[in-house]
Amino acid sequence: MSGAAVIIIGAGVAGWTTAREFRKLQPDTDVILVTADSGDFYAKPTLSNAYAQKRAPAQLVTTPAAKMAETLALTLVSHTRVHSLDTAKRTITVQTPSGLETLEYQQLVIATGAHPIRVELAGDAAGAVRSVNSLDDFAAFHAALGIDAGATGSSPNETVVVMGAGLIGCEFANDLAQAGVHVHVVDLAARPLAALLPAAASGLLQAALSDLGVKWHFGTSVSAVNYGADGRLSVTLADGQQVAADLVLSAIGLRADTELARAAGLVCERGIVVGATLETSAAGVYALGDCAQYQSAGQRTLPYVMPVMTAARALAATLAGTPTELVFPLMPVSVKTPALPLVVAAAHPAVIGEWHDEGGENAWRFVDQAGAQRGFVLAGKSTARRMEMSKLTSP
Ligand SMILES: Cc1cc2nc3c(=O)[nH]c(=O)nc-3n(C[C@H](O)[C@H](O)[C@H](O)COP(=O)(O)OP(=O)(O)OC[C@H]3O[C@@H](n4cnc5c(N)ncnc54)[C@H](O)[C@@H]3O)c2cc1C
Repeated sequence: MSGAAVIIIGAGVAGWTTAREFRKLQPDTDVILVTADSGDFYAKPTLSNAYAQKRAPAQLVTTPAAKMAETLALTLVSHTRVHSLDTAKRTITVQTPSGLETLEYQQLVIATGAHPIRVELAGDAAGAVRSVNSLDDFAAFHAALGIDAGATGSSPNETVVVMGAGLIGCEFANDLAQAGVHVHVVDLAARPLAALLPAAASGLLQAALSDLGVKWHFGTSVSAVNYGADGRLSVTLADGQQVAADLVLSAIGLRADTELARAAGLVCERGIVVGATLETSAAGVYALGDCAQYQSAGQRTLPYVMPVMTAARALAATLAGTPTELVFPLMPVSVKTPALPLVVAAAHPAVIGEWHDEGGENAWRFVDQAGAQRGFVLAGKSTARRMEMSKLTSP
C-alpha cells in the first residue's frame, strides 16, 4: 500500500459521510480511510438514548465496517492510528503491528473527532470515572452497569453520578433514570442546560427529570471519588456532600482532537482552523466534524451531526475538483430527553440579545438588539413548531 488520491482519517459520521458524498461524484478515484477504531458505522447520538430502549452496544451498529468499505469501494485500514502527517511531502505515517508505514496522499481529510474533557479529581477511584464518546466507551459503560454486551433485559438497581447538566449529561440522566437507575446530576451551574436554555425552560426540564427520580446538585462539582469499604464508589462534592454510587459518568464537554494537526504545524485554536472550503492552513489538507473550527460558523466548533452532514457535502465537491464554500443553514438540535423533548436553535455566542417568552406556549425566541430573531427553544408539544420557528430565525 503506497497511498491514494484521497486519504480520510477517522471513521465517525464525518469520515464516512465525506467518503459517501465523494463517491457520488468520483466513483473511480482511489480512497483510503484510516481509523483507530473498528470502522463500524453507528449513529453516535444513539449512545445517550439506547439504554432505556434496552439496545445492546452491538445492536447500535447499523453497517459493519467491511460492508461500508465494500459499498464505497475504498480501502479501509481499521484499528490503525495515524501517527503523524508531513504536509510538505504529502504523507501520513500509520502505526501498524509491524512498525510505522508511510502513505502518500494528494488530498487529506482529518476527521478525528473530539476527546471528552477530563478534570483532575482527588481520590483512589478518580481513574474509574467514565465518559461515553464512542461505541467502545458505551460497551464498557454498559458492561459496568451490570449488563453484558449480549444481554438486553435486565434493569439494575444501581446509582450513577453524572458530572455535567449539559446536553449529553441531561440525555444520559433521562435515559438511565427511565431504565430504573438512580441518577444524581452534579453541575456548577444553577440549572440544567444553563448555556442553551432560558431559565423557564431549564425549570421545566429540571422538573420533568425530577419526576423520573433524578436528584440534582447544582452550584457544586465532584471533587473526589474513592472506593468505599463496600466496593462501591464514594463521591465527594465540593460542598461537602457525599453520594454513594456504582458509577460516575463525566459529561462535562468535549475538546476537539487537534493532536495530529498541531504536531504537523497546522493552525489550531479551539479546533483545527478551516476556511470556507474546509481547507486547513496546509494546502490539500482539510478538516471537518468535531475536530474542526469553522470560519463559516464564526470560528466556532459545531459538535453536532447536522453541521457534519452539511460540511461533508461541500467538502466532497471540493475534493472532486469544484471548490465549494461551506454555508451553514440554521441547524436546530433535538435534545433527546423524552421526559421533556426540546428543540434548541442557539444563536452565535457573540450575539447580544434576550429571551422572549411566548406566553405559556413552551416556546422562547432569542431576539437581538436590532429586533431580529436569532435563536429559539421549543419544549414538549411545541417542538412541532420547529419548521415555523426556523423560518423566522436568521442564522
Ligand atoms: C452521547 C452523545 C450523544 C450525542 N447526541 C447528539 C444528538 O442528539 N444530535 C447531534 O446532532 N449530535 C449529537 N452528538 C454529537 C455527534 O454525535 C458528533 O458531533 C459526531 O458524531 C462527531 O462525529 P466525528 O466524525 O466528527 O467524530 P467521531 O465520531 O469522534 O469520530 C472520530 C474518528 O476519528 C478516529 N481517530 C481519531 N484519532 C485518530 C488517529 N490519530 N488515527 C486514526 N483514527 C483516528 C476515531 O477512531 C473515530 O473513528 C452526540 C455525541 C455524544 C457523545
